[in-house]
Amino acid sequence: MKDSTYIKKLIGQMTLEEKASLCSGKDTWHTQSVDRLGIPSLMVTDGPHGLRKQRASADHLGLFDSVPSTCFPSAAGVASSWNRALIQQMGEALGRECQAEEVAVLLGPGVNIKRSPLCGRNFEYFSEDPFLSSEMAAHHIIGVQSQGVGTSLKHFAANNQEHRRMTSDSIVDERTLREIYLASFEGAVKKAQPWTVMCAYNKVNGEFASENEELLTTILKEEWGHEGIVVSDWGAVNDRVKGVAAGLELEMPSSHGEGTALIIKAVQEGKLSEEKLDQVVERLLTVIFKAKDHQKAGASFDQEVHHQLAREIARESMVLLKNEDRVLPLSRTGKLALIGAMAKEVRYQGSGSSQIKPTKLEDISEEIIKIAPDAEIAYEQGYQLSSEETDAELLELAKQAAASSETAVVFAGLPARYESEGFDRQHLRIPPNQIALIEEIAKVQPNLVVVLSNGAPIEMPWLPHAKGVLEAYLGGQALGGAIADLLFGVVSPSGKLAETFPLALSDNPSFLFYPGEKDIVEYREGIFVGYRYYDKKQQPVLFPFGHGLSYTAFEYSNLTVQKNKISDQETLQVQVTVRNSGQMAGKEAVQLYVRDIESSVIRPEKELKAFDKVELQPGESKTVSFELDKRSFAYYDVELKDWVVETGSFELLIGKSSQDIVLTEQIEVESTTVRTYVYHRNSTITDLMQTEKGREWVKKIYAVLPFAAALEGPHAALLQAFMKYMPIRGMLSFSGGKFTEKHLEELVDDMNKK
Ligand code: BGC
Repeated sequence: MKDSTYIKKLIGQMTLEEKASLCSGKDTWHTQSVDRLGIPSLMVTDGPHGLRKQRASADHLGLFDSVPSTCFPSAAGVASSWNRALIQQMGEALGRECQAEEVAVLLGPGVNIKRSPLCGRNFEYFSEDPFLSSEMAAHHIIGVQSQGVGTSLKHFAANNQEHRRMTSDSIVDERTLREIYLASFEGAVKKAQPWTVMCAYNKVNGEFASENEELLTTILKEEWGHEGIVVSDWGAVNDRVKGVAAGLELEMPSSHGEGTALIIKAVQEGKLSEEKLDQVVERLLTVIFKAKDHQKAGASFDQEVHHQLAREIARESMVLLKNEDRVLPLSRTGKLALIGAMAKEVRYQGSGSSQIKPTKLEDISEEIIKIAPDAEIAYEQGYQLSSEETDAELLELAKQAAASSETAVVFAGLPARYESEGFDRQHLRIPPNQIALIEEIAKVQPNLVVVLSNGAPIEMPWLPHAKGVLEAYLGGQALGGAIADLLFGVVSPSGKLAETFPLALSDNPSFLFYPGEKDIVEYREGIFVGYRYYDKKQQPVLFPFGHGLSYTAFEYSNLTVQKNKISDQETLQVQVTVRNSGQMAGKEAVQLYVRDIESSVIRPEKELKAFDKVELQPGESKTVSFELDKRSFAYYDVELKDWVVETGSFELLIGKSSQDIVLTEQIEVESTTVRTYVYHRNSTITDLMQTEKGREWVKKIYAVLPFAAALEGPHAALLQAFMKYMPIRGMLSFSGGKFTEKHLEELVDDMNKK
């Protein structure tokens, strides 16, 4: 082990040139080495849901062939599993594959919040909710790093669109940044210590993320205690020297000596202290040696075992959105029509830097035949995936197959050209030829099930025509088996949406301001992202956050809290019993939301603060335990620059989804925040009423008002309400001259006395 004493000593032996050279990559995928001093080079590769180790080295967008690796479902799906243990297992498998390929750091996971369903990269991100997102990311990281391989939590921060991603400026108010966009990173950093954090391409409030000291040093390193390094997104560096000073340790890919030369010059000219550079190098060497120390020579992995894991994860990542008349699960006998090009040209992963070469790829119809060998199965293409136009002949053949079957399953979704890293979607529709197909099939076959492959929400004007809808997301290389398992009820679906499906794009809170004007992207909807908005606005949605059906049924009972009153310094244990009251084994994601019943600040209706997934046999019950702490009740106070709980009542809501709340309990939380008020002539009567001394002053002021008697009389309530927000200088105008400037000065002085 190369400890900190060793590393410090090593830095003492390094020349300025060597130190500076370490701050940029050697090529696209490797860090720089210093052979003279035994400093090795590391290999890093994408991520997040599989390993993209390229055979040729010079591109980062996946144009070159990469070595085969297991393609797990992408994050949008994995988040729908709400299963921490499962994503951790996925991380462990990814870590093993990295070890086998001598990869030191896997570039992922991505935790950017799904501000708009249009973001082309939403498939690679977890959720619209920061708590769910950070929990899934933390367990992904824990899994990978348990194998001695690092991760790169990305893209830090406020990289919520692909449109102009390298130049756009995300203008986000401080509270929103803290509660929504940063919180998604914060939980993962604190819980899992990713070896690296990748800074985003975009600017955040006027400053490139790659040179944003507030983000990279003040918040990430100092406040959250990140011990690793920050690596730039590929090509995200704007001003290398400013970046070093701000806390960006590593520039990727190689800048071919340019970045190094700039750092050397800055140190020589006294614009960057060598001490600062030493700190950067110390962090770099710590990660480099950690990775080397953990490298397992000759490591290998079992492709089949990982493939089976991919199938298990895919099953839990898919969400049964609709199941009218219990059209699902399908019968294993009888006539079944499989329709749609996407059953053959499967979409199982997204495009861009995360695109990998799978070790194998399951065929959906083959997997269906394996499970239902006695069924009479017909397949028709239905539409051309590469086209928007209806192909009359294909449509006709599909209709005939559907009409002569007992059930039709249509495979539809977003073609790869609709969503990708690098650009955003323009709308939420699937191609018109697919919509036409669904509508036409419904006319001849009422037992219609639609299986969707897409990385983000779509509009479903055709929903009334389909009895069943299975959202398969981008299910990875084992999607075929997973879809078959779910369609036939080999396992019960247990995925729940990690994002809201709006009825229409225009319902989305960011709609009016997305994707901004030129490079200015104002997050004007503030904290009201996803269900936080739809809930508060009482805006009907297609499918709410947390929604997902099962073939079995779950009953919730006995919501108990260990105490009904706590201080915000205490934790609170909450328990609820869940029983499988159906006929089949199944898993349920139990969700706990918190609502601040009365608040002086604007708050969402409710926020997810805990969740767990339980597996239950028919008739079995389990008690699920949650622990809530200060953060579960707090909002970010921009004045105090801290998380604050307001004393008062909170409601705990246990939900099957964000809109299907089954049990509630009320508790009291006592705040320990001490607020020092500074009083001035525009402080209001309400401000004064917060303290004993202030209340005495109010009495005195009221006594001299010409309408003092009325403040006690039959209209007292109305008048008191009227006075509530009167600034104290208002008394100069309304006291008939009795309250003077001198009185006002005396009052303000007295109130400000400690
Ligand atoms: C992406 C990153 C990725 C990097 C390396 C960038 O374009 O934004 O997510 O890790 O390329 O491929």
